[in-house]
Amino acid sequence: MHEMSLMENVRQIIEDAAAEQQFSRVKTIWLELGELSCAEPEAMRFCFDVVMQHSIAQQARLEIVRTPGSGWCANCSRTVTISALYEPCPACGNHAINITGGDAMRVRELEVE
Ligand SMILES: [Zn+2]
Repeated sequence: MHEMSLMENVRQIIEDAAAEQQFSRVKTIWLELGELSCAEPEAMRFCFDVVMQHSIAQQARLEIVRTPGSGWCANCSRTVTISALYEPCPACGNHAINITGGDAMRVRELEVE
């Protein structure tokens, strides 16, 4: 499952941060998930429970923050908001949109103690 390896990356980020900042427990994790990323929030929650077992984030709450997708339309010469990959430009219908944002996942914030 694609989400499983994403979540393993998240655990690695948390463990690196814990080693660097000397915290021993994570209370809340805010995870940004782009609307154009291939990861499903429900699948992410499932993987979260599995991957975080026996880690310092075992008791943590997962908050998923969706970020909108954006792309550059060469036809309109501007950035447009799109809600799915391969969606045409909402202004002119051009299909050759270059995705510029909302296609990734990142850890935005950790609440720790
Ligand atoms: Zn356009």
